[in-house]
Amino acid sequence: MAGEPQDDCLFCKIVAGSIPATIVRETETTVAFRDINPQAPTHVLVIPKAHHKDAAALATAAPELAADVLRETQAIADEEKLDSYRVVFNTGSGAGQTVWHAHAHVLGGRGLQWPPG
Ligand code: 5GP
Ligand code: ZN
Repeated sequence: MAGEPQDDCLFCKIVAGSIPATIVRETETTVAFRDINPQAPTHVLVIPKAHHKDAAALATAAPELAADVLRETQAIADEEKLDSYRVVFNTGSGAGQTVWHAHAHVLGGRGLQWPPG
């Protein structure tokens, strides 16, 4: 069910602490940790603690929680002293989504091209 921890979900396991991660920030509702395969000097994932399959599902089911995630992306940028950065929600396998627990990528610390690949 939306919001409930899923046994087979990698990011639910990171929230539960059963899989280790380099956690950089935590709030009552969110966790932020470094991506295991960073694509930029700063590459942090911000996730809601509750399980929602992607950003759109999160925004529909729990808009306040979606706002919490967005606020945390700014907090990461501040902590990492990023003037410019990119927030990405890959949605669907064709766009590169591989983990089906909503997450914002916060990327920065180098020039970022537009359009993205
Ligand atoms: P997606 O491809 O779904 O947009 O993003 C999933 C991200 O999770 C990828 O950037 C990938 O490198 C990262 N990732 C996958 N497994 C792990 C893990 O075990 N720990 C951490 N910290 N990141 C992971
Ligand atoms: Zn999950």
